[in-house]
Amino acid sequence: MQQFDYLIIGQGLAGTCLSLHLQAKGKRVLVVDFFRRTSSSRIAAGFIHPITGRRINKTWMAETLLPYASSFYYTLGQQAKTSFFHESDSLEMISEIRQLNDWQNRSAEPGYAAFFGEQEVTGYDKLLVDHIKLIRLRNSGWLNVPKLLDHYKQKWKASEQLLEIDSVINDELSLQQMLQQYGITATAIIFCEGEQGRFSEFWNWLPFNPAKGEILTLEIPGLPEKEILFNGIFFIPLGNHKFRVGSTYSWNPLDDVPTEAAKAELVEKIHKTIQIPFTIADHLAGVRPATDDRRPFLGRHPHHKNYFIFNGLGSKGSLLAPWFAEHLTDHLIINTPLLKEVDISRFSNRK
Ligand SMILES: Cc1cc2nc3c(=O)[nH]c(=O)nc-3n(C[C@H](O)[C@H](O)[C@H](O)COP(=O)(O)OP(=O)(O)OC[C@H]3O[C@@H](n4cnc5c(N)ncnc54)[C@H](O)[C@@H]3O)c2cc1C
Repeated sequence: MQQFDYLIIGQGLAGTCLSLHLQAKGKRVLVVDFFRRTSSSRIAAGFIHPITGRRINKTWMAETLLPYASSFYYTLGQQAKTSFFHESDSLEMISEIRQLNDWQNRSAEPGYAAFFGEQEVTGYDKLLVDHIKLIRLRNSGWLNVPKLLDHYKQKWKASEQLLEIDSVINDELSLQQMLQQYGITATAIIFCEGEQGRFSEFWNWLPFNPAKGEILTLEIPGLPEKEILFNGIFFIPLGNHKFRVGSTYSWNPLDDVPTEAAKAELVEKIHKTIQIPFTIADHLAGVRPATDDRRPFLGRHPHHKNYFIFNGLGSKGSLLAPWFAEHLTDHLIINTPLLKEVDISRFSNRK
């Protein structure tokens, strides 16, 4: 029988960041994963940026989460002698005067100025569709999520800290069977199943609100690769003239099948942004583990006292996972209270 402090179910970004934090505190951790090629973390573009939405609002907890995430991924990259996170400015393409005024007003507000870059934008003349300005935003970048996951998958498999299983664990019976089959015991089990969590007997009462997303990989010879261009969709430079471009949102059906409709929607937006030729190299779809109130799910199961959840990272897993994984680690080990906004006890009336 192998005894662990924590059994983590799911090796997406949530399970990976949480395992790293627990291991760093000296805990014995086993990760169990039912690999899915199209899980959200495998599809994600990993884009992190400080300001979101048409209303030009600062991302929730931006001042805390942004520096934490970039330093966390930077350190992991150093330890692995590679880089997982690519810090770069993003350029917001502005096409209307009203939009420009809104952005300029925001940039003058306290708490926002630090996110705006001064450096002149060059190299985009004649490449983009008519626009008024490109606004430079600092503190953004992108995480190569599959590279990060693969790195730890290989490492943990070699050290017998990761077990790939061939069926999902959705209820007490399948959980107990798996524990018995592999001879595992653990003091606590933490479910990091992404959008699959909505099918779990333990967590299906939580208000998941998953959103399907589709994303393209384009080849765009000639487009600068220094910054991330943003015009309602992002153009993330991968190197060698390749860009991740996305993404769409849809709610029915919630599957991982790429559709012609979403491709057409993205192509239309691409034509509203660049006026140079491009080719589509890849098209993928996945489901984001989003929640009704757009806040993560952290905490203890109301009846199973040694079952916990880390889920609900929505469309911002790359930004949220590192800090909230540490937040949950502190809760598990030294019993610090969880932020009310993320503690699943906020839904205790549903169970
Ligand atoms: C098209 C698209 C674009 C996106 N772009 C971005 C972006 O630019 N920036 C950003 O920050 N986020 C982005 N996201 C969101 C991001 O992918 C998620 O927030 C994050 O990856 C979720 O990670 P997770 O670990 O919670 O879930 P997942 O990635 O779904 O990982 C869960 C893991 O657990 C396994 N699993 C599930 N159930 C079980 C079970 N019962 N037993 C065993 N194993 C199980 C799964 O197979 C998987 O390996 C995007 C998502 C999509 C779909």
